[in-house]
Amino acid sequence: MPILDKLVIANRGEIALRILRACRELGIKTVAVHSQADRDLKHVRLADESVCIGPPSSTESYLNIPAVVSAAEVTDAVAIHPGYGFLAENADFAERVEQSGFVFVGPKPETIRLMGDKLSAIARMKAAGVPCVPGSDGPLSSDGDEIMKTAREVGYPLLIKAAGGGGGRGMRAVHSEASLLSAVSLTRSEAAAAFGNDTLYMEKYLERPRHVEFQLVADQHGNAIHLGERDCSMQRRHQKVIEESPAPGITAEQRQRIGALCVEACRAIDYRGVGTFEFLYDEGNFYFIEMNTRLQVEHPVTEMVTGLDLVKLQLLIAAGEPLGIRQSDVTFRGHAMECRVNAEDPKNFRPSPGTITLFHPPGGPGIRLDSHVYTGYHVPPYYDSLIGKLVAHGDSRESAMARLGTALDEIVIDGISTNIPLHQDLCRDAAFLRGGTDIHYLERKLGL
Ligand code: ADP
Repeated sequence: MPILDKLVIANRGEIALRILRACRELGIKTVAVHSQADRDLKHVRLADESVCIGPPSSTESYLNIPAVVSAAEVTDAVAIHPGYGFLAENADFAERVEQSGFVFVGPKPETIRLMGDKLSAIARMKAAGVPCVPGSDGPLSSDGDEIMKTAREVGYPLLIKAAGGGGGRGMRAVHSEASLLSAVSLTRSEAAAAFGNDTLYMEKYLERPRHVEFQLVADQHGNAIHLGERDCSMQRRHQKVIEESPAPGITAEQRQRIGALCVEACRAIDYRGVGTFEFLYDEGNFYFIEMNTRLQVEHPVTEMVTGLDLVKLQLLIAAGEPLGIRQSDVTFRGHAMECRVNAEDPKNFRPSPGTITLFHPPGGPGIRLDSHVYTGYHVPPYYDSLIGKLVAHGDSRESAMARLGTALDEIVIDGISTNIPLHQDLCRDAAFLRGGTDIHYLERKLGL
């Protein structure tokens, strides 16, 4: 059983700090790897050691596999935690980490590969009894007549999706046969350029679904549990803006039934670590869309309602420890809601890098802020704009939202623009207050 006495944090920003905190609690020494633009990150200062792995551009630093692995070698680390984004779902990276003799904090490389290809993931989930979106049942043919035939079977509107797609890219909605073939060829060339894989498939386009995802945890000894669901329907350009747990209106019976299906699916693919099954929820039905084989940005809402520490669980599982919690030990208390705080203009969403001249975090009962920023911190222009996650927990959804609203009014981030005004607006939005808004709600509200 490997003892993780020193770990490389292969990420930046709030998640690197989150991982560092869990390591400290477990007595694991940390190595921060960072780009030249990130010397002043909070976790770099707090880590036991740090290694600069390259210039600001993430392709030359955080995505540079040999540089990350060499940092582990030169510091005599034992394990590498990829966080989310960057190399977290890169099977080649996980393989390289393991081949170099390090522990990869995540699933096996072959599992990442299997679930990273959306078509193979859907096929495995169907085989495991998980409900999927009606669609083409495999890759689209290159023959126009065949494509039109499949489309008539699936029915309009439909979605053309790239098997290798991710991050909300590589998909296109088609509303009628007239635009079908041009949409397919456009998506195919985009997919080839962006993902190096031009395999496409087709799904029924659900017009007003909600995004409801289940959190799973599995150890290396065949134990797996689910930690309930999160509703992440508040999205802009397929990017989540607010997440909450539990999902409004989801019954204990639905949670238990879909959760149990996900647990079975985890066993079927010999899953290890934390993972998320994403579903679209439409008129009472769940449809699997993809699995994320990593820690999610929105993991704190699950932590707040279950009282469990998902990063600590990840580290213990990676060290070979048995899970130690049964499904019947998992209880859900109250409601949690998370706002992603971005350095961006609240109206046109343009990134707003720059120096934070004054930072004052909110506080009070049920408030948690996961953020790496501080007064004087310079938000660099090279990476995504997330500067923190503000999470509120309360006994009820109303109380969580009231606490979130209070915290949003209290937080001070001067010197740059942030999307806090948008969050303040959403906290007072009548439909969102009622709960259960669909994935297009925010874009409709913004007039996009
Ligand atoms: P990615 O890997 O890019 O995140 P997903 O398959 O998870 O791709 O889809 C991202 C988002 O696109 C979903 O959260 C949802 O908003 C929308 N979406 C995906 N599939 C469908 C569908 N069949 N019908 C309607 N919307 C969809």
